[in-house]
Amino acid sequence: MMQSILLAIGAYNDWDILDMHAGFDLTQLASVSDLAMVDMARRAAVKAVAYKGHKPFGAAEMDLLPALEVIANYGVGYDAIDVAAAKQRGVRVTNTPDVLNDDVADLAVGMLLAFTRNMMTNAEWLARGDWAEKGDPPLARKFSGARVGIMGLGRIGREIADRLAAFKMEIHYHSRSAKDTPEGWVWHPTPEGLAASCDYMVVALIGGKQTEGYVSRDVIAAMGADAVIANISRGSTIDEEALLEALEAKRIRGAALDVFRVEPQLDPRFQKLSNVFLQPHQGSATIETRKAMGALQRANIRAHLAGEPLLTPVN
Ligand code: NAP
Repeated sequence: MMQSILLAIGAYNDWDILDMHAGFDLTQLASVSDLAMVDMARRAAVKAVAYKGHKPFGAAEMDLLPALEVIANYGVGYDAIDVAAAKQRGVRVTNTPDVLNDDVADLAVGMLLAFTRNMMTNAEWLARGDWAEKGDPPLARKFSGARVGIMGLGRIGREIADRLAAFKMEIHYHSRSAKDTPEGWVWHPTPEGLAASCDYMVVALIGGKQTEGYVSRDVIAAMGADAVIANISRGSTIDEEALLEALEAKRIRGAALDVFRVEPQLDPRFQKLSNVFLQPHQGSATIETRKAMGALQRANIRAHLAGEPLLTPVN
């Protein structure tokens, strides 16, 4: 039986490629921008794309693949894919929810702890020999028991809140409507209300046009001078210019950020700040979770090609 062509776009791990070769006639592309370079006859036969990347996959790219039936995204956030354009063309889109919740929540908590307990500067203090030379480093700030606000109590937001509840924190959240939560969690109907009510605010919204700048200049202004913001969602969810200004002027205590408006060449102003803890978009970046994400991506493609229901459809 002839194998279906699978177009894999993005940088995959060896285990993904091995499995793709086993079940499909594979074509690999480093980036969606290289699509036009694929031989036209081969392009015309592609039914399934395994997509990994943050570059826009829009109508123009879809039109280069006239037989396209399914785009399986590697990641829960599918903001790079124009789902409306896919729908118009009868193309199904899938993502990889839930399998990465734990990792992203772990990183959010880890970043906040690393920031507030000065772990990076303390490690540098030790590495430089300052401990022996100068004595103890400056004192850090207490984390357990503080008030935390989750901006977007979705799948990942909920995992973050559950972890922080174990840190004896007072849990506040903003979602478009109140959720079924443990007793005592406080819902804020507006993002400004949440910002004004917490010492630590963690952004866990989806990315894309609907949430562009959701953490606006006004929301940042509503944060207290001693408040810290963390973002593990997408750089687009925060007004980055307003955030940089607030950090530079020390109008807030600091930020722990895994995502940026432009990646990987983030705004160089971030690198000049001493009140930040920055990560290069590592939320789901463990071997275990990346394996699970790849497996779910391919399970969606296989289900589609076998005429079975998609496991995790977006549209
Ligand atoms: P989710 O369950 O869909 O939750 C997303 C949250 O976004 C929900 O609280 C939802 O609000 C909110 N939201 C959705 N549309 C909105 C709108 N139009 N206006 C305001 N709020 C809106 O998503 P998830 O699985 O938790 O994932 C969240 C995001 O994390 C992903 O989309 C992805 O971009 C990001 N992520 C980052 C990494 C990383 O490496 N840093 C890894 C994985 C995921 P309601 O509560 O009101 O429904």
